Amino acid sequence: MSALAQPPHPRRQAAIDHLEALIGFDTTSAYSNRALIDHMQAYFAQLGMETVVLFDETGEKANLIASAGPHDVSGIVLSGHTDVVPANPRAWRSDPFCLTQREARLYGRGTCDMKGFAACVMAAAPELLSGELTYPLYFCFSHDEEVGCLGAPAIARHLASIETPPGLAIIGEPSEMHVVNGQKGKIAMRVTVHGEGGHSSFAPQHVNAVEYAARIIAMVGERERRYEREGPFDGDFTVPHATTLATIIEGGVATNITPDHCSFVFELRSIDQNAAQADMQALIDEIESALLPSMQTLSPQARIEWQEQFSYPAMGDATETPLFKAIEPILPSRAGKVSYGSEGGVFEVVGNIPSIILGPGSIQQAHKPDEFIEIEQIDRCLAFFDDLARWTKGASV
Ligand SMILES: [Zn+2]
Repeated sequence: MSALAQPPHPRRQAAIDHLEALIGFDTTSAYSNRALIDHMQAYFAQLGMETVVLFDETGEKANLIASAGPHDVSGIVLSGHTDVVPANPRAWRSDPFCLTQREARLYGRGTCDMKGFAACVMAAAPELLSGELTYPLYFCFSHDEEVGCLGAPAIARHLASIETPPGLAIIGEPSEMHVVNGQKGKIAMRVTVHGEGGHSSFAPQHVNAVEYAARIIAMVGERERRYEREGPFDGDFTVPHATTLATIIEGGVATNITPDHCSFVFELRSIDQNAAQADMQALIDEIESALLPSMQTLSPQARIEWQEQFSYPAMGDATETPLFKAIEPILPSRAGKVSYGSEGGVFEVVGNIPSIILGPGSIQQAHKPDEFIEIEQIDRCLAFFDDLARWTKGASV
């Protein structure tokens, strides 16, 4: 049966109206998200929720935690990020910060990643909060997820410090409303090779930074092929092992100068919560012991500089935890594990809160021009919140 043949969910229009308001705030990670947080905080406060706003050190960015329900029971977190990746308006058919409907899709930057989820939480909130809650609910909205999960640690610390911390976080990243029970972690590393330059006709006397960067990148590539051959493997991931690759490079000055510096970025995506930092250090040690001696024979000042740009932990499998077991009867089917990042690993590692990903929309549409969410996905998310509303009041569903 076609999705359009389904009757619209009764709260569909409310969700679309909330989404229209949320898309109108340009919360590209480079800008402040305060206006959006104020908007959401006012809405949840007016529904009677307790709200806490956590600012970053600049005061320009904020996280919101809105909660309701008993304090002596472990509850459920519904979590999303408020920032979006940049949008180049020239690549879009319509204004990325003005919600536009074409056929059964809603277009706008953040529609699927992940203001669509936030709009559904807002539309469902009156129903989720009506009556007596058996389990508390925490609606959490962070800043700066897209630039390395910078806001989520403060939320996780706050939740870990309350009387009875939550027992499960549902991260509403786009998963087409299937349960995702694992996610890779990531370390992004900037490497700067400091060599020694001069007129390129004297090349043998110099430490060519571009050439050494190329050798390091080749070793990063060899590490990748070793992961492919030797694992460790987890068949629940589409790419069932860790991956590593160089993504950005810059270096050199002119065609007749031996370059004295070259800088590049590479990433390591891990399937193991704990192994990533150790793997990264082993790779650094291997590269330095292979290349530094020959670099420093020519120039004692030559060196390789390593700067971690950001990292977030992998999200482990929460499916054996008590609250997951308790809520499992109302959860949609599982989709396995994903290689993209989310705040789930941060909730687990920083807040000790088991996490899953479950949200409307497809990751295929994220981070692209003409990002959209299918209206049918909004309906499915709202239908799940109907079940959650009954479940949090202790009713059988
Ligand atoms: Zn996202």
